[in-house]
Amino acid sequence: MKKATQQQTKEHNRNLALKTIFGHASISRAEIARITSLTRTTVSDIVSELIAEGLVNEIGVGESLGGKSPILLSLVEDSRCLIGLDLAQNQFMGAVVNLRGQIRKMVTLPVNDRRGGEALALVYEMLDQLMQTVCQPMVGIGVGTPGLVNTNEGVVVNAVNLDWQDLPLAHLLEERYHLPVSVLNDSQAAAMGEYTYGEEHTSDSSLIVINARHGIGAGIVINGRLFQGDGGGAGEIGHVVVAPEGGLPCRCGNRGCLETVASAQALVKRTQMLASQTAGTQLPHSPQSITLDAIEQAFAADDPLARQVVLDAGRYMGLAISSLVGTLNIQKIVLTGDMTRFGAAWLEAIRSTVAQTTLARLAQGTQVEIGQLGANGVILGASALLANDYALLFKR
Ligand SMILES: [Zn+2]
Repeated sequence: MKKATQQQTKEHNRNLALKTIFGHASISRAEIARITSLTRTTVSDIVSELIAEGLVNEIGVGESLGGKSPILLSLVEDSRCLIGLDLAQNQFMGAVVNLRGQIRKMVTLPVNDRRGGEALALVYEMLDQLMQTVCQPMVGIGVGTPGLVNTNEGVVVNAVNLDWQDLPLAHLLEERYHLPVSVLNDSQAAAMGEYTYGEEHTSDSSLIVINARHGIGAGIVINGRLFQGDGGGAGEIGHVVVAPEGGLPCRCGNRGCLETVASAQALVKRTQMLASQTAGTQLPHSPQSITLDAIEQAFAADDPLARQVVLDAGRYMGLAISSLVGTLNIQKIVLTGDMTRFGAAWLEAIRSTVAQTTLARLAQGTQVEIGQLGANGVILGASALLANDYALLFKR
């Protein structure tokens, strides 16, 4: 093994200190030294550098534990900004966020079926608007896009809805905006969002986020790191066939994929097919009038058809989660996306299916919950590229 150079050691120590400061609302130098096991002198030097960079400031005096009262330090949360994009099905959303993931500016543009080059032009239009912000310096752009992504190369390998194949998105955006760009699959971005800004957890914990909206995908965080698999497609559960007999055709070319039975799109399609044949439903018979909002309203009013389709979708989702639990035994499963609007009853259908279709001992230890970031999860996760790369904070 090569010995770490002095520069690498210095950067490693700085990252340790920064991570600790990020993890606390306020903290003293002594406390940083205790947590990181760095010497007080090293911590002092690092903190001086962070203060000079404007990243950290002294905010007052803490309680004394005997001896001199310690000076408290805090992250200057608006000292750097990031951009996060969520290239969702019907609308592209983007935001400028600060170092704590607080949204400072938001832009939403309807997609109106733009594809290929037109969809790319819409990404530019959104970024042009977001770049016109007073927040400086901007340190990077993170993109969450549907489809298969090669994150190392920043290439969208295949995004069916956007009609993008082998699109070098990171390269194109870096050329245009002169900022570092990271591109993630949207479900993987949602996982990074929940991991970075959701419920508190230890830095080496594991988590699966299942993003159920127009499509379905999972993002898998193992021991604190996003797991993307050998080809970048880890978590592509939406196109695993779960209804092989008589399943509906899927946009991927197969039939009976999870997406055709458990996604928001599938829910609307199935309700449209059944509404005219079902007696006693309050849902309109004309397919055009059946939207996700209409189903949500009917579901809230205990409409039998709405309940049936939503709970069926939940049960299929439960089956998919059982396979993940059996494969990875990750105990924390978080659900995000449009489908979470069906709340407790949908969640219960998922949980009881998981309980019935997973080895009992594994199911007992597994928590399935709805995420905390709402519609901004992908944006926040895409912008959380800092989570792995503090060096970006120092590039000017
Ligand atoms: Zn499919």
